[in-house]
Amino acid sequence: MRYFTITTLGCKVNQYDGSAVAGALRRAGWSPAGPGRRPNLVLVNTCCVTATAMRKSRQAIRRAVRAAPSAAVFVLGCYGAADPARLRRLLRTLGVPDGNVLIAGNHDDLSARVSRFIEGNDSLSYETTEGRKGFDEFHDESGLAHVKKRRKDMLRGGCVGTEGLGLLREFAGHQRAFVKVQDGCDAFCNYCIVPYARPRVWSRREEDILAECRQLVEAGHKEIVLCGVFLGAFGRATAIRRKWDNTPSKLPQLVRKVSEIPGLWRVRLSSLEPGDVSDELLAVLRDASTAAPHLHLPLQNGSDRILRRMNRQYRSADYRDAVSRLREALNRPAVTTDIIVGYPGETDDDFAETLAVAREAGFAKIHIFPFSPLEPTGAWLRRDEIPSQGVVRKRLEQLSELEAKLAQNYRGQFVGETLEGLVENATTPNGKPVSMSACRSALLGKRTRKAMTSRYLTVAFPASSGDDLTGRIVNLKITGVTDEGLLGKHIS
Ligand code: SF4
Repeated sequence: MRYFTITTLGCKVNQYDGSAVAGALRRAGWSPAGPGRRPNLVLVNTCCVTATAMRKSRQAIRRAVRAAPSAAVFVLGCYGAADPARLRRLLRTLGVPDGNVLIAGNHDDLSARVSRFIEGNDSLSYETTEGRKGFDEFHDESGLAHVKKRRKDMLRGGCVGTEGLGLLREFAGHQRAFVKVQDGCDAFCNYCIVPYARPRVWSRREEDILAECRQLVEAGHKEIVLCGVFLGAFGRATAIRRKWDNTPSKLPQLVRKVSEIPGLWRVRLSSLEPGDVSDELLAVLRDASTAAPHLHLPLQNGSDRILRRMNRQYRSADYRDAVSRLREALNRPAVTTDIIVGYPGETDDDFAETLAVAREAGFAKIHIFPFSPLEPTGAWLRRDEIPSQGVVRKRLEQLSELEAKLAQNYRGQFVGETLEGLVENATTPNGKPVSMSACRSALLGKRTRKAMTSRYLTVAFPASSGDDLTGRIVNLKITGVTDEGLLGKHIS
């Protein structure tokens, strides 16, 4: 038998890609490793969106190799695309022979690589990608010349991604299934490395997406999250809005079709920009009973000066307008966001504008990121303009404080109401999720379970021994607010 393990880091799109590769391996006769089943192959699906994500990816590779020193190693994902040379050196340091390593980033035709590997390898024999150079291989150059060379190198190659890996039959280990509908970004926000790691903008065919969603719902997933690197570019050839023709977005009609799949409880969208919040989309979110009243709209900064520096495709007024139209169209929608603190050149006034937009938007949740300069992005060239550590720390504290208040306000309005929620997998004592089947049989005694509501609120509630609730939609009477979400009581 042939066994594999897979570790996936990063965003929903990466999670989808990891599941697609794992699904292709399973269909080809590979099985997940487990007790008494040592892996012949370890896959690490990496992320490079921040310096921390890169560090975690390297840690995951180290852990996977140490757990299975003689297994072949298949590194994929964005970090594999961005810095294969560094990962190759890491694997050599860990004693993995080059012949046992495949590094395939998003520039490669991943589906062809996986298929070639599956079809041609009964005995383990791997190729080593001679890919892009490492971050430290351009140090003979400096400044803009260095960045230009680095960019050119990173953008080299095709990028076909996971097309052709087949449709997912299940999203293993999760109750909510992520379905990638779009990949790639060429918008080049100045802080973002994604356009270098996933440069080709492409969308899946609607019929494939719908067939996959139906299969996933039939497999028991009650919520589908439609995701993309630049989801608003679904059906478009570029993520640059000024290059779009006047044809309406295909996203609202896709959401409507997914929302009509029998057995589905919720369809949710992963992330959009203000420019994607069209009247058509709002009408679908309002009229489709299974559409979640939740949008994640990354703000990144509330100051137009910084948004311009970031090369974002909206201004603060566009953002405010999108949120107010959303509030008019839907009943108490959850608006969640991402904000970067300490972008090069951010002044106290800029930061004050961010706080003002956040207050006005009344975010249900803010994901706060301290700015981290990534080579070879535009912002990396301006890294000497990053505010001092002390200033950034203070701003992070201020924003965290506001975040906590806004989130409490938003959650507080649901106390006393009864909400539906999708019960998530039980977790092991160390907090790791356990498999659906394991947690169904291992529920002993009363314990706290968690359910996700359509407004993206996590409700913690006590469940009785033997209650087989995982993956079920339950009614929860909301009794209180916590730092993480809501407290509730299960009503049968
Ligand atoms: S839109 Fe901007 S932030 Fe989003 S993936 Fe593209 S470049 Fe990155």
